[in-house]
Amino acid sequence: MFTTCLVCHSAFDENDSLEHFPRGERVAFDPVKGRLWAICKGCKRWTLAPIEERWEALEELDKLVMDKARLLSQTDNIALLKAGKLEIVRIGRANLSEQAWWRYGRQLRERRKKHKQLTALAAGGVGAAVLFGPGIGLGWFGAWILWENAPRGVTNAARWLRFGSAAWRGERRCENCGFVFRSLPYNERGRVILQPGDSENGPMALTQPCPRCRKKASGGLVLTGREAEHAVRRVLAYHHFAGASESRIKSATRLIDEAGSADRLGRIVLGQGRRLGDLRRTGAIALEIAANESQEQRLLELELADLERHWLEEEELAEIIDGELTPLPVFESLRRKVIGGGG
Ligand SMILES: [Zn+2]
Ligand SMILES: [Zn+2]
Repeated sequence: MFTTCLVCHSAFDENDSLEHFPRGERVAFDPVKGRLWAICKGCKRWTLAPIEERWEALEELDKLVMDKARLLSQTDNIALLKAGKLEIVRIGRANLSEQAWWRYGRQLRERRKKHKQLTALAAGGVGAAVLFGPGIGLGWFGAWILWENAPRGVTNAARWLRFGSAAWRGERRCENCGFVFRSLPYNERGRVILQPGDSENGPMALTQPCPRCRKKASGGLVLTGREAEHAVRRVLAYHHFAGASESRIKSATRLIDEAGSADRLGRIVLGQGRRLGDLRRTGAIALEIAANESQEQRLLELELADLERHWLEEEELAEIIDGELTPLPVFESLRRKVIGGGG
């Protein structure tokens, strides 16, 4: 069993997911050609597993992909999946439905876990937060801020640390009365009006009523396009700082599935426009997931393009190595074993 990257010699971390291939937190496999690689986190190069170590591992991987893995994203040539901590690159299009929502749903679940930890720390006294803060990823500075802000509550201080005090800063005038907006403070978020996007405004628009003229029909702080997208994501994440339960995330994602697209979800949940404070929780969670989905999708597409480039190089090498070292009949039987049947 090889344990280090053949290119840069970094050690592969152990994964708990594969009995027959316990090294590497990111692996790639081609079930048709019978290839198996461990991908180095350091140099990103792929190390081809010796052919005698592939058999069981390939079967195990195929089963893991079918039974437990979540499909993050795919191109025509490769699919990126995740099973527990293990990241799997499967060559060839996976015949699975993409569960896009799951990517962000996980963040909401983790947020809930962390929030519970913080609440427990608060109950245990702030001294505990200073002692154990670093254990939950707060750092000493964070723990100190919590200490300073103890009277206002540990969770509030943690929220401030994470988000600051405003979802948007800039300079914008009310169309009616000329009042100058310089920020959109989170504590006024209940009155913020979210509107579904259109061709002019982009995916979503956000309006904060004007505190001076208070006209409902026009004026106020109006954000559209990328600016709105960014502010909406921040406001919703702040609003859902405590995260969401598994069942809430499931209902929210069912809502997204039924809507079919982020735009239609916006119209269903928001109608012509609705105050954040008046939104039902499931609808608001669905909006947050959908608002982040497009952002995550863009990042994943970049990552997939990068992986695909590596795959083309490594496959070329693998073809040479396997072709030279492996007698064809052995390879054929391996291939049949993995893809099943006589193919
Ligand atoms: Zn390496
Ligand atoms: Zn005004």
